Amino acid sequence: MRFVLASNNAGKLSEFSELFHNTGLTVAPQRDFGVTDADETGLSFIENALIKARHASEATGLPAIADDSGLVVPALGGAPGIYSARYSGLGDSANNTKLLDEMKGLEAKDRAAFYVAVIAVVKSATDPMPTIAEGRWHGSIGLSPKGDGGFGYDPLFIPDGATATASEMAREDKQRVSHRAKALKALEPLLKQAR
Ligand code: IMP
Repeated sequence: MRFVLASNNAGKLSEFSELFHNTGLTVAPQRDFGVTDADETGLSFIENALIKARHASEATGLPAIADDSGLVVPALGGAPGIYSARYSGLGDSANNTKLLDEMKGLEAKDRAAFYVAVIAVVKSATDPMPTIAEGRWHGSIGLSPKGDGGFGYDPLFIPDGATATASEMAREDKQRVSHRAKALKALEPLLKQAR
């Protein structure tokens, strides 16, 4: 069976292809079918992942997979949350500056944060029983950006139990423990049950 991936991100495509390896399932990016990005109008990661998956399935007639992810800071009421990519409207570096500004003066315990990734799988555009998997990666927000690997909020995100930021981690190490890795791991048994 062929799935459409509601993303054109090469990294995500290879992660999903790896998961499906040896299952008889294949995954192709929505670009291959001329599908444009859906409007992410939901108020939660789950809603946005589902909107993207249903949109790709509707446009192609194929089962679809989508993910939505971001950074959650409980002391900021969950911000930047689903708005992580568009927090400042000016890209990653400005997003980090805005986050530091918003967190100025917060004591250590209020600097807790986690990344979250939600993956939604629909068998059709109107599937009433989507498969949903979630992964979280807990840590805290540092006082200044450090490192130049990764992307997004990685220069500020210090995983629990670490002293360095996610930007300073080896790529393979991050890929083993990240929110996305955990969501993918959680998805595997759910997909088997759903078949
Ligand atoms: P998307 O789900 O790929 O659209 O990611 C949403 C946004 O969340 C990204 O643009 C980043 O700002 C943030 N984000 C999600 N995952 C990560 C991560 O692993 N590291 C850093 N930032 C992330």
